[in-house]
Amino acid sequence: MKTNRWFPIMLIVGACTLSSLSITVAFSDDAAKPGHDHKAEKPSDAKIKAAMAKLPESDRSAAAAQRYCPMMDTVRLGAMGTPLKVLIDGKSVFVCCSGCKDDAVEHGKETLAKVAKLKKSAAAIAKLPTADQPLAETQLFCPIEEGSRLGSMGTPVKLMLDGKPVFLCCKGCEDSARENTKMTLAKVEEIKKENAKAGQHEGHDHKHGAADHEHKKGTATKK
Ligand SMILES: [Zn+2]
Ligand SMILES: [Zn+2]
Repeated sequence: MKTNRWFPIMLIVGACTLSSLSITVAFSDDAAKPGHDHKAEKPSDAKIKAAMAKLPESDRSAAAAQRYCPMMDTVRLGAMGTPLKVLIDGKSVFVCCSGCKDDAVEHGKETLAKVAKLKKSAAAIAKLPTADQPLAETQLFCPIEEGSRLGSMGTPVKLMLDGKPVFLCCKGCEDSARENTKMTLAKVEEIKKENAKAGQHEGHDHKHGAADHEHKKGTATKK
């Protein structure tokens, strides 16, 4: 019987197909989601909370720990509706909308690294006094060390410059921040404006605006 000879090979091929299938299946559950219907309005905390509450209970804490979309790192999970879960190397990752899903998968390794950073930052920001947390989150990046996310180097450092709160990624940035108060404050305003723009998350050209933060930093090496 000729066919018997090929049977073991067919089994192997079958197994491979199955394992890649399980990945595909995990992504395909939001097919019905409409494209980019998001409005430019700033999502309220209540809206985000409601969207997050729609996640299955088993996913909520992981999504809350991640807090931001790895593809749009200034967009809170829940701001675009219920976050979507994707599986990358067997790990659960949450993205803000269907428009961010394919990229998250395509650059799986980078996505996982980004998610780890986001979790670390969110945990560090959560160590700030409650009243400071929303302030730090409108800023999100250090005005001195460009592209350095607040919380990526431990609990952010708060300064008052000309009566305005400024957050820095670390103590090492404090001298530079105080050296030219005006420039520091201007940079903070610029960052906030950029964040607000990216936070609107309209269309698909948003990706690079937000990702720029990542690439400017000289120490960020990619293999
Ligand atoms: Zn998105
Ligand atoms: Zn710093």
